[in-house]
Amino acid sequence: MFSSVFGHRRQLALLSRAIARDTLPPALLFAGPVGVGKRRVAMAVARAINCLEPRSTGEFERDACGKCAACRRIGRGVHPDVIMIEPGDNGSIKIEAVRDAIDRAGFRPFEARRRVVIIDDAEALVAAAQNALLKTLEEMPTASIFVLVSSIPDALLPTVRSRCPRLRFGSLSPAEVAQALARDHGYSETDARAAAADADGSVGRALSADSADLTQARDEACRLLEQTARTDDPARRLEVVRDFSGTRGTSASDRDQMAACLRALAALLRDLGIVASHGDRRTLANGDLEAQLEKLIGSFDHRRSLKAYAAVDEALNALERNASPKIVADWLVLQL
Ligand SMILES: [Zn+2]
Repeated sequence: MFSSVFGHRRQLALLSRAIARDTLPPALLFAGPVGVGKRRVAMAVARAINCLEPRSTGEFERDACGKCAACRRIGRGVHPDVIMIEPGDNGSIKIEAVRDAIDRAGFRPFEARRRVVIIDDAEALVAAAQNALLKTLEEMPTASIFVLVSSIPDALLPTVRSRCPRLRFGSLSPAEVAQALARDHGYSETDARAAAADADGSVGRALSADSADLTQARDEACRLLEQTARTDDPARRLEVVRDFSGTRGTSASDRDQMAACLRALAALLRDLGIVASHGDRRTLANGDLEAQLEKLIGSFDHRRSLKAYAAVDEALNALERNASPKIVADWLVLQL
């Protein structure tokens, strides 16, 4: 249902209105970063079109009920008129995979208002499949609607792209990522927040990282800031950094943990910059740590936060270029 999708309100309202007024084009391209919910929105479109008891809310002209037989079958992936096509084991979508959907495109759906064909990771369509699809789109079937979902839309043939009006999806806010992780993936509030702060607005990216480590990384980054705020003495600071995990060894996992700490540190410093300059607090990556951020602001004003942020960025660069985690940490702690 549209109402249970996180973020993308403008796009959802647009889709909902087009469905209510039956003006949805026969093909659409959902473009945007990986893991922001494009496929989920495509499923919500399929439901809103085919729900047996659609509703209209203040926000959406037409949305699915989520409970009727059609909604439930779409949710289970067994609705005969809602077809999901995605890459096979070899990573591509062969022509055979789209053939059936294409053959049926001109015919009336079995039981739906309109058949919905969702092609996820559409850039994986082999050229022959794209051409077959194109032929179908040129004939403008009215019984089917094709939703192509892609994070690399420019890899599609230009002819296909020109046939599919593009709906762009942006990144989610950290708060939206955290909500999605907590509601749909069983994360605790703390783990969800920590993972979201390091996820670049993508639920998919958050899920592919290990949230336990990120929670630890964020805790350590927070502690490091609190301790460096307290002392300017270089010897003391170097002592502080010894507790920073990932600095003890040089193995790949030590480096990864160190990099996670640095990214957490960068996110905290960016947040401090926002708080210090009285920016919009809804954009904080670590909105749940507002109290700690408030305390730190006494030591980390806007200028110092910016300078520290640049230093963390340089430290991450050095780490990527294979510098020793210990040397990077020692250098960094003296710059904060
Ligand atoms: Zn329904």
